[in-house]
Amino acid sequence: MNVGAAQHLVGGNLVIATHNAGKLKEIGALLAPYGMECISAGALGLPEPAETGTTFIENALIKARAAAEASGLPALADDSGLSVASLEGRPGVYTADWAERQWFEGPAGRDWYMAMGKVEGMLQAMGSDVDRSCWFSCVLALAWPDGESVVYEGRVDGTFTWPPRGDKGFGYDPVFVPLGRSGTFAEIDPTEKQGMSHRADAFAKLVAEQFGA
Ligand code: IMP
Repeated sequence: MNVGAAQHLVGGNLVIATHNAGKLKEIGALLAPYGMECISAGALGLPEPAETGTTFIENALIKARAAAEASGLPALADDSGLSVASLEGRPGVYTADWAERQWFEGPAGRDWYMAMGKVEGMLQAMGSDVDRSCWFSCVLALAWPDGESVVYEGRVDGTFTWPPRGDKGFGYDPVFVPLGRSGTFAEIDPTEKQGMSHRADAFAKLVAEQFGA
């Protein structure tokens, strides 16, 4: 979706609207061949805006626009999550929130097994022949300091499986079997996953439009 952006990235500095060092490294490596020098919002000391949107697009735009305004540089943000068809798209934008542990259950932190178990519990309550179709979404938002922005949507479809399998991935990877495969995202080789993921799909669209690659 193009939100009216006529500008293109032409090399130079790009703020990655994340405080996550892993994401910065991954995105920096993907964009380095196009002359982009990536700096994280965290390194610039930019505040993290509240993700108050109800869609991946809204949340990605909130993060990219806040970073572009605060830094005076073009900024890139991503938002991603898992949607389950039988659960009307949940957890969706709340994918990370479903893994938040309550304070009385132990130290604060994310518990992915609990989050995956919550999805499984809801599916099991719907019967043994419940539709287990699901998909990972990734939205990349690019924003410029003058208010222009553009978003790229990526998606990979699959099936929610139980119990979780594999130890190569993160988050919900152990319960996600991509269409046409038998292994979960946590069993598939990470470089192969990176080539077929929702993030790869969104990045391919960004690179095609921004750099004509
Ligand atoms: P965020 O976009 O960093 O807010 O992440 C949302 C959440 O979605 C993550 O914390 C993960 O749990 C989940 N998620 C996003 N992408 C993936 C993936 O490729 N594999 C597994 N889980 C993912």
